[in-house]
Amino acid sequence: MSLTLSSAAHLSFSSSFYRISLLSSSQSLHCRFKTKASSSQKTGVIIIGAGLAGLAAATHLTSNNIPFLVVEASDGVGGRVRTDVVDGFLLDRGFQIFITAYPEAQKLLDYEALRLHKFYSGARVYLDGQFHTVADPLRHFADSLKSLTNPVGSLLDKLLIGSTRIRVLSKSNDQIINSTETTTIDMLRDLGFSDSMIARFFRPFFGGIFFDTQLETTSRLFDFIFKCLALGDNTLPERGIGAIPNQLAAKLPSNSVLLNSRVVSIDSFSKTASPRVKLENGEILQSEHGVILAVEQPEVDKLIAGKNLVDKRPGRSTICLYFTTDTQMIPVKDPVLFLNGSGKGIVNNMFFATNVASSYGPSGKGLVSVSLIGLYNDVSDGDLTAKVVEELSGWFGDSVVRSWTHLRTYRIHFAQPNQRPPTDLMKESGVEKGLYLCGDYMTSATFDGALVSGRKAVEALLRERQLPFIY
Ligand SMILES: Cc1cc2nc3c(=O)[nH]c(=O)nc-3n(C[C@H](O)[C@H](O)[C@H](O)COP(=O)(O)OP(=O)(O)OC[C@H]3O[C@@H](n4cnc5c(N)ncnc54)[C@H](O)[C@@H]3O)c2cc1C
Repeated sequence: MSLTLSSAAHLSFSSSFYRISLLSSSQSLHCRFKTKASSSQKTGVIIIGAGLAGLAAATHLTSNNIPFLVVEASDGVGGRVRTDVVDGFLLDRGFQIFITAYPEAQKLLDYEALRLHKFYSGARVYLDGQFHTVADPLRHFADSLKSLTNPVGSLLDKLLIGSTRIRVLSKSNDQIINSTETTTIDMLRDLGFSDSMIARFFRPFFGGIFFDTQLETTSRLFDFIFKCLALGDNTLPERGIGAIPNQLAAKLPSNSVLLNSRVVSIDSFSKTASPRVKLENGEILQSEHGVILAVEQPEVDKLIAGKNLVDKRPGRSTICLYFTTDTQMIPVKDPVLFLNGSGKGIVNNMFFATNVASSYGPSGKGLVSVSLIGLYNDVSDGDLTAKVVEELSGWFGDSVVRSWTHLRTYRIHFAQPNQRPPTDLMKESGVEKGLYLCGDYMTSATFDGALVSGRKAVEALLRERQLPFIY
């Protein structure tokens, strides 16, 4: 969907928040941001948090002509979906892939402008000193025929992949999200997959998506992701994964995002008709219509203590290490994801980012992205790098991997909420009059889930005010 801000109704709101800009996208992104909150300023809705959920809420408020201000603690938009530019390399903060079949994303994002670059549909599994290809038969038929006899799984396993595909495609997304759930591992066993297929393919592949090597994540999420993978491509935007939130932010009205502004408290809504939030610097912002809390799960209880609104189970963690080397020292040319199917070592998955999109590195340089699951708190960054280099030397050869230079390590403590059953992936946004929650913990821990939750919060707000929701 492409949003137009040309609606005359926009212009009727507070001119300091609503100025239509005709700048280019990078200039206009800059202009979304306010540098300072004016003291005791009042706006329609205050959105706390500029991750995908908060930006989706802001997008829907824009199309519904409701004035708002997004208040973000950090120095940029995107929350967990950000890209750093380091010496000409695009370093996503953790390995992330954008699946084009995400249904909510299809409605909100301009895919063409993101210039998406595709991964190979399948993976290469490292096992017993060799690589084995697991290919999607509908996209890489010849490769999939060759992979029928590889040791990653049995012939039956490969047939079961086909029947799982048919099963998930026959269900609507709502049916999947509301289906009877179990853990992913139990479901895979119940479906008849062999232990070797689970250990060599599902554990590194879906474990890498859920940051959960035990595959305890709800089967509902497995089915949803499996369906999206069947229908769409795995991709990276040309300017990094952060281009996704940047695109949403660039379409918001001028001065509608306040960065570097941590909210420290929210007024009790039952006590006041005009909810207020307090910033770390002491400033007070007042909202006319309500507050949308779009922060990550661990932050929710800090801001609305005592309500016991969120799951207390520890979230999922991951580490991503980046290396660079000359392009000729990248051992393969294809845009494929490598999985560790050996059951040994600390690497879960890795890929050569510049093989997927050459824009991820400066000319002549390759970018290597390596992901681990968990935090390895007791291992220093230096030791971790050394272990990864040693392990991957076994995969690609000593002379290749020893030429790589370590660029940066990201330790991501809270990557995703824990989505082990029991789950409710359709939580109600309204907490009390004027306070609405959104974030991936309300739906599914995906880009799509975060976007859905932002829409649902705006729907709840408009419903309470007896206003229609315009998509
Ligand atoms: C490494 C990694 C890889 C991932 N890979 C994928 C993937 O491949 N595919 C996929 O679909 N999903 C993936 N995810 C999950 C996906 O990124 C998240 O589900 C989604 O981005 C969550 O968005 P959100 O808006 O709910 O939360 P967040 O992105 O966490 O946004 C919350 C925002 O609130 C701000 N905030 C917090 N407290 C305050 C405060 N007090 N005041 C003001 N602002 C505050 C934060 O700074 C942040 O910007 C991945 C996540 C990570 C970390």
